[in-house]
Amino acid sequence: MASKTTADDSDESITISFGCDYAKSSNAKCHGKSCENEISKGTLRLSRLIRNPFIPQSSTREEQLMPVYYHVPCMINYLRTGNEKKKRITDVTNDLQGFTDLKKKDQDRLKKLFNYEEKLQGNLSETSSTANTTYLEHDEQKKYWQISIENRSTKTKYGLLNEPDSDAIILYKEFSNQSEAKTYYQTKIKEKLKGGYTLKKQTGDTTNTDNLIGIKRKRASTPAKRTKKQATIATRKQPTRSASMRKK
Ligand SMILES: [Zn+2]
Repeated sequence: MASKTTADDSDESITISFGCDYAKSSNAKCHGKSCENEISKGTLRLSRLIRNPFIPQSSTREEQLMPVYYHVPCMINYLRTGNEKKKRITDVTNDLQGFTDLKKKDQDRLKKLFNYEEKLQGNLSETSSTANTTYLEHDEQKKYWQISIENRSTKTKYGLLNEPDSDAIILYKEFSNQSEAKTYYQTKIKEKLKGGYTLKKQTGDTTNTDNLIGIKRKRASTPAKRTKKQATIATRKQPTRSASMRKK
């Protein structure tokens, strides 16, 4: 489950640019991972321009490119996953081709949505003072897994211990309320502890995970001394990851 490659990455083609327009027909299907419904004519849609794998290399660059379409919420979901290197929309006005051709109300809607995304991700950043974070490592498999929670949203981040932070896979999730988010947070941590991960560091309000640590202590035969040492190592490791996160 914690393997590096997710389905999203393996079949993911690289984005050349992003665009927006109104669906000219109802023929195009949404590329959202859990959607695949048609985008009905006239609907505001977002797109990624990618290289068409079926067009021979001999054709012009223009011919080799093709758009893949998304419902607006499905594009938001797409952008909430993947590593830092993945091309994303940071400024709708400049990053979305065709933005100025949209109706004013749709321009405003997109601006609002993407501002919200920025705020959500900021609230869950590693320097956030309001987010709670649990950091785990799998000693044998040399990988880490981390989850943060802030109000009704969560951020999961995982990767190999020796790889650059920019390779880490990130996933943002938003729930309809705080208790749902908390359940997800706790369930995921429990799953990881069962899967051989050990708790290295926790920040923020630990009442979210008190029970989990209780479970862990009962099972583990590791002396308290060693746990303390591991915690120190994890603390030292944290700033490296936070430093590169702060840029975004
Ligand atoms: Zn969709």
